[in-house]
Amino acid sequence: MGQPERTACPHCRGVLDVAGLRPGQPARCGLCGQVFVVPRSIGATVSRHTNWLITAGVVALVGLVAVALLGLIAALAIPSLVRYTDKVEAASLANWGERVRMVQGLRKVEMDAAAPYASNLDELLEIDPGLTDDPEITFVFGPTNAEGYTFTVEHATGDSAPQVFTSEDAISPVAPDPLPPEFPPAA
Ligand SMILES: [Zn+2]
Repeated sequence: MGQPERTACPHCRGVLDVAGLRPGQPARCGLCGQVFVVPRSIGATVSRHTNWLITAGVVALVGLVAVALLGLIAALAIPSLVRYTDKVEAASLANWGERVRMVQGLRKVEMDAAAPYASNLDELLEIDPGLTDDPEITFVFGPTNAEGYTFTVEHATGDSAPQVFTSEDAISPVAPDPLPPEFPPAA
């Protein structure tokens, strides 16, 4: 770091050549005639080269901050997006399971009571052709007979755990509320 060769006059802001003058030494501005002290710091006479370095440094810093912020936003947003997607998949599995359960019940009503529940999708598609509407959903049938059934609903992504459905979990009809007691006849 050498001593400044140029400086700005503190009075008129004119750029002056101070090469050969010592820092701290008083000098008279050749433009406005006022006296000032030659600055000690090179920073007072920022060269174009230094200016460029500062600009590049600021740009790099702003870039780093922007990248860090984007990373932070991604780190916050992606996990919640993943959780949301998992919830949507789980809800989809539950919906399809309930639909198959309903179709099993409908089919049983249409058939002989002694007939077994459907043990594969083809038997259910005769009742509800829409069961293959979502290509990401797979039904895997377990043990099935005239008394009950079990099947699993799986999602193609595998992100959500497969859901198991059995005839025993089927929703039974709600018993009607008992009639309220009659009011005694007025005397
Ligand atoms: Zn001046």
